[in-house]
Amino acid sequence: MRDGAERGRKKKLVVAFHFQFANQAAWECDACRRSGLETKRRCGWIGLEPQGAVWARRDVAVGACPKSYVTAESVGLLEEFLVRRQLGGLACEELSARKVEAFVVLEREMDKERAGLLDAEKGRR
Ligand SMILES: [Zn+2]
Repeated sequence: MRDGAERGRKKKLVVAFHFQFANQAAWECDACRRSGLETKRRCGWIGLEPQGAVWARRDVAVGACPKSYVTAESVGLLEEFLVRRQLGGLACEELSARKVEAFVVLEREMDKERAGLLDAEKGRR
């Protein structure tokens, strides 16, 4: 049970990380609603369980509108991660265990992202 919740939290973080590279405006739930896509996209506010792959990027897929899938907590952690990186240090000693755990997950995604970019560059040459 705890494992499940933990995996869920990690997945939300990973989705939050990848969603920042997406065209987020296309996933505002108002837009989903206006185009009648809220059921197909399984937006959070209609209360359907995530199912299938509604949105995907690289090796992450999510069975719901990513906008409503990620939580305020995961977005907050992602923002803090990015700001701290920008400032040049994650300063682990002042972080809670939960944040350290989250930042490790995000750091791994960041590494994969960089590796992917390098591969793409090599491919072009
Ligand atoms: Zn939506």
